[in-house]
Amino acid sequence: MSSLPLIAALSRGGALALGCALTTLPAFSRPQFAGDVAERAAAVEHLVDSALTSGQAYRMLTGLCTRAPHRLAGSTGAAAAVEWARQEMERLGFDKVRLEPCTVPHWERGEVAELTLLADGGGRALPILALGGSVATPAKGIEAEVIEVRDFEELRALGEAARGRIVFFNRPMDPAELDAFRAYGGAVDQRSRGAVEAAKAGALAAIVRSMTMRLDDFPHTGAMHYEEGVEQVPGVAVSTLGAERLSEQIARGGPVRVRLRLDCKTYPDAPSFNVVGELVGSEHPEQVLVVGGHLDAWDVGQGAHDDGAGCVQALEALRLIRAAGLKPRRTIRAVMFMNEENGLRGGSAYYAAHLEQMDQHVLALESDRGGFTPRGFTSDAGPEAMAVLREVAALLKPIGIADVFPGGGGVDISPMRASGVPQVGYLPDGQRYFDFHHSERDVLEAVHPRELQLGAAAMAALLYVVADLPETLPRNVPGTR
Ligand SMILES: [Zn+2]
Repeated sequence: MSSLPLIAALSRGGALALGCALTTLPAFSRPQFAGDVAERAAAVEHLVDSALTSGQAYRMLTGLCTRAPHRLAGSTGAAAAVEWARQEMERLGFDKVRLEPCTVPHWERGEVAELTLLADGGGRALPILALGGSVATPAKGIEAEVIEVRDFEELRALGEAARGRIVFFNRPMDPAELDAFRAYGGAVDQRSRGAVEAAKAGALAAIVRSMTMRLDDFPHTGAMHYEEGVEQVPGVAVSTLGAERLSEQIARGGPVRVRLRLDCKTYPDAPSFNVVGELVGSEHPEQVLVVGGHLDAWDVGQGAHDDGAGCVQALEALRLIRAAGLKPRRTIRAVMFMNEENGLRGGSAYYAAHLEQMDQHVLALESDRGGFTPRGFTSDAGPEAMAVLREVAALLKPIGIADVFPGGGGVDISPMRASGVPQVGYLPDGQRYFDFHHSERDVLEAVHPRELQLGAAAMAALLYVVADLPETLPRNVPGTR
């Protein structure tokens, strides 16, 4: 395995000498580190080796999940997470560690979440969680008949039949879909818009089957939205087994009545922060690569995969580069974004605060698909930049990175698309992500330390190579991607 002094030498002397040689090439006629593959490969190999032998991502994740297990924006847990991130960046020796302010929504789920099958249902309680942003029910609850549908079209076709009832959206994530995120995307409208559509049909509340393919008794929360001019009715997620029981009861015929009680509440917006720290570039400190995850998490479980894993991988990527003695030409900036789950206020605030420097933002990378074993990256970069990214991916084949696939980066970095900043998303294996997502199951023990480290190593490698290219990675045309 490569020695530290060798890597340091390659970083400075080797890379600089190569930079001069490459300036004779026409701009991006081919990837800018062509010819330098052996040296880059040595650096990448070293990053992977130290990630596996002396990694710190799991230690960091343990710290975050212990100090701030519940950290929904606006909560005391979120404030604790901000302080944890600031202290961790200081401890790791990052440059320019700072808090950047943003204003966030503040919703709390309260103490009561009850869904009980009445009468013929035998008084059985079904496991539910209020959806994020839901209004409460009256204190005594709502008692009504449940009407089951698979989608909004079916609901509309019912006409007046849903009036005065509770709508039960029970369309599972499509198991035939190989990409679990696509299956999620095909079902999540029930969660995000179910309460609005139910209210439009004159219904009193919405019950939504949890967004997971797993059959169990853990409900999965997540964001829901209201619409101006439409009555605000409560929205809850029921566990998948609870959904099966409710559906079976309805299938037996005869009206199925339930009682629903929630005491969640929305408070005034609250002050919060993105947490920022960086490794200042050795030649072009003004040119910035952003890497991040979101610091906020739902108030169940510990947000270990979503998105504690992404946060600590971003921190670990910078730490690995620094510990290897690598000094890339451009600045690599870790941003722990606030409020991805229910507002995107942190991502928007970062973009607004740095709008004038957006033309100096080279790339934005986000890890927000869990801490599972590496599969690749996704990116919206144009062909020339994509060719460079794919060369980096090729160096990472031994750890399971297959390629860079067309796709987005992540929600928090998405505002930067408007300015043409190429987006990259870390792509781990996604088959088990929705077993944990937004539920009590998303805890530290659900994350495997080695898989987490491999992801951090892949991110470190990509960041280092792109930050140290002789020429800047080509940008996207603003507003076209
Ligand atoms: Zn997330």
